[in-house]
Amino acid sequence: MNRLRLFHPEPARKRLRIIPVFLPYHGCPYRCIYCAQHLQTGMTSGAETAAGEPALKAIHANMVQSLQQLTTTGTKNSGVAFYGGTFTALPMEWQELFLKTAQSHRADGTITHIRCSTRPDCVNAKHLLWLRGIGLDMVELGIQSFEPDVLRQSRRGYDGETAVKACLAVRKSGLELGVQLMPGLPGSTISGWFRDVDQTRALAPETVRIYPCLVLRGTPLSQAHSEGSYRTWSLPITVWAVSRALNSFWRQGIPVIRIGLAPEGALTPAIQAGPWHPALGHMVKSHALRSWLTQAMTALPEVPRQMYIPRRFAAEFWGHGREHARTWRRLGLTPANVGSWERPYFLVTTLACALQK
Ligand code: SF4
Repeated sequence: MNRLRLFHPEPARKRLRIIPVFLPYHGCPYRCIYCAQHLQTGMTSGAETAAGEPALKAIHANMVQSLQQLTTTGTKNSGVAFYGGTFTALPMEWQELFLKTAQSHRADGTITHIRCSTRPDCVNAKHLLWLRGIGLDMVELGIQSFEPDVLRQSRRGYDGETAVKACLAVRKSGLELGVQLMPGLPGSTISGWFRDVDQTRALAPETVRIYPCLVLRGTPLSQAHSEGSYRTWSLPITVWAVSRALNSFWRQGIPVIRIGLAPEGALTPAIQAGPWHPALGHMVKSHALRSWLTQAMTALPEVPRQMYIPRRFAAEFWGHGREHARTWRRLGLTPANVGSWERPYFLVTTLACALQK
């Protein structure tokens, strides 16, 4: 075999315009040691970050306005996502009102998908069926880890069995399942992280999000870090460990829809420590792609002589700051014999021939 034709391993997924409805801390039984929703959601002040009815009323009013705007402009096929709190632990009348408001825009095609995020110890079978019945499509569970030591040291308040049962309950209810993982929490190890990845793959969620643990000022984790009782994962270790996980998820056809926190305005200055980089997702993807391509190229009988890559993956191929150029050079691939094209696949050949475009 002198030619290798390869498609990017990332599973295809439907991309929707998302209307986020942030519910910072609403429904949360307590504040988790690493969590700073007011920074993560960009809501650094205002009524929405307060507790109770008036705050929920303000959030709902904003949501109604956003949905009306979509209707006015005729924008179709959007999703609504309830983030930043524990949706399934809100007072029932608020869960109902939020979902029914989103659902009322489904008939004309404005809204086609509704999801919420919640904790694994705040779901049960009956409740999930009720949520599905009033319009919910997907539950994203903030699992973070299935490892007993991590859950205990991070004071998550549930064990690994509860986390698995919650995932299975979501599956059984007919709702789509999303799993959120947080490598690098207190008590975490690299081997434990890969067990988390294997456990997640076994549960076959529709989506995964990976948020490497950061230390944000003002959180209990920030104090533990200052006292020296908690050490973060380094950026290189995180990129390596998450890129290996990404490859496993890709191989199983599970889309990873987010890697790392979005760089909200107030977030960056509040980061005390941790594997933060504004291009973390790109770095992880490019490492995963590099390892997948180099593995695939071992099927070639001799060194590659020429390669074409889909133009949209060129930056991912060369890596952040062209960090993979050395690897490719060792394999005989340099800008002189690597071209990009509009075709959707990679082509590697061992013959130095002019490829017909
Ligand atoms: S349950 Fe989620 S949103 Fe609530 S405090 Fe914990 S991590 Fe933050």
